[in-house]
Amino acid sequence: MLVTLTASTLSNGPAGAQSAANVPTLSTVEALTSSLPAPSPPAELVSPPHHDAQDVLRASATSDEVSRSMPRATFRTDTGGTVQCSGVVPDIGTNGHVPDESLCDLWQKPYRDRADAVVTLTKLNDAHTAKFGEPMCLTSGYRTLEEQAALRRKEPGLAAPAGLSNHGWGLAVDFCKETYTGIHGTWLRANAATYDWDNPAWARRGGSGPYEPWHWEYETGVNALVAAGLEK
Ligand SMILES: [Zn+2]
Repeated sequence: MLVTLTASTLSNGPAGAQSAANVPTLSTVEALTSSLPAPSPPAELVSPPHHDAQDVLRASATSDEVSRSMPRATFRTDTGGTVQCSGVVPDIGTNGHVPDESLCDLWQKPYRDRADAVVTLTKLNDAHTAKFGEPMCLTSGYRTLEEQAALRRKEPGLAAPAGLSNHGWGLAVDFCKETYTGIHGTWLRANAATYDWDNPAWARRGGSGPYEPWHWEYETGVNALVAAGLEK
């Protein structure tokens, strides 16, 4: 299946991408410091680090001037690296088997998502950082089929059956409690739609699915799957 999902603003993305084996960083444990009364995702919903080689586009040879001229998909990671994501999705793959070339790292290791979702979520994160002086905190992104199945075994009431989660398409993230509650959560709910991200109706209080205020999805990507008959 060859599906090209290329935003016009991304057409001049970096072509000389170099693949580098990336050593996963064990970091970014959810900081549960908020005292606000909201549920936090079970520990089992926190994705393990990926041990596959990741396409991390290091920009060590890129000057700041060049970086500023790049598409808005160049960003710093929590470990000080720079990621460039073209936003181009040459192949959406199948649920839980999205090819590496269609994925990008998110700003917080070890999480990844589909490239177009990463580009727009990065814009939302930039706006959050401009407002609060810190990035949004993540606990999950893309999940392979194997990771979905393992999660389902641990949390049958919460995790979707393997192959049915939008995490498997690289179109969802889970946020830390500190990001989806309090003033950050209020800001998130007010601003995410501008960047086409949403806490879907099923995941809201009173929705048709489990109450998951931490679970957010890239709407354009999900709607395209539905239109293509690849999802309910
Ligand atoms: Zn989720």
